[in-house]
Amino acid sequence: MGQVQGKVVLVTGAAAGIGAAIATTLGREGAKVVLTDLDDARGEDVAQSIRAAGGEALYLHQDVTEEARWAEVMGEIDRRFGRLDVLVANAGIAIIVPIIEMTLEQWRKQTAVNVDGVFLSAKHGIPLMRKSGPGKPSPGGSIVMISSVAGLRGSAGLAGYSATKGAVRLFAKSVALECAGARDNIRCNSIHPGIIGTEIWEKMPGERRNAPIDANAVAAATVPTGQLGTPQDVANAVLFLASDASSYINGSEIVVDAGLMA
Ligand code: NAD
Repeated sequence: MGQVQGKVVLVTGAAAGIGAAIATTLGREGAKVVLTDLDDARGEDVAQSIRAAGGEALYLHQDVTEEARWAEVMGEIDRRFGRLDVLVANAGIAIIVPIIEMTLEQWRKQTAVNVDGVFLSAKHGIPLMRKSGPGKPSPGGSIVMISSVAGLRGSAGLAGYSATKGAVRLFAKSVALECAGARDNIRCNSIHPGIIGTEIWEKMPGERRNAPIDANAVAAATVPTGQLGTPQDVANAVLFLASDASSYINGSEIVVDAGLMA
């Protein structure tokens, strides 16, 4: 019996990196996984690999910034499964640029994905999660929001990103307070990864904005162990928060950074 056996789970940004590892891990542990992303080919591949390993997975196209699509995705989950037990708001982007060079368009784009997308996940996810109350396979719902160590302190060059991830941290705590108690029985926690080896680093322009950032070099220079984290390191923490083993953990934050913030 898996650690999240029978739970219906939604993971946004699940086609790559941390989201793909979360979806795969929860699928392996018995969850029925709904994956959403912009990248349909890779999203379908991840869903297919979960099914090939004997799990249950459904991929849906979704831009997390579009509210109308959120309503459609929740409708589809309701039709297929009749409930939602775990929501992992993972989709995010990072734009690295000095404040005085950042355009308002860049600021708004990053905020739209990292903050609006997370807000919309809760707004549209909570009503369906209320169906996962006591007596169902789960003693209640669990929302996991992927913030960052950049949501715990400022970051030169990543000011906009830090602002969005700090917002996610306090939004998660607010959701936790609003959804605690008998009616909702939904927990909400944030995870703050450190330097994790994914394509997000390659997508960011480098310091001179003509070369990708070498995440290994960043980890070697900043992480006490010198090591780059893996998407699996983050997925392991999500699995814990998604499972009933964390049923007394609410409004909290888990830092997955090998001591970077210590
Ligand atoms: P990634 O770029 O490898 O994957 C992000 C996924 O999100 C991609 O599949 C992308 O298509 C999808 N996505 C982007 N915009 C979207 C949108 N509007 N709608 C739906 N999907 C969208 O990045 P990652 O490193 O796996 O990051 C996942 C999360 O972890 C992000 O929230 C990121 O901020 C956070 N994070 C990453 C690190 C790190 O070092 N990699 C550290 C801290 C926090």
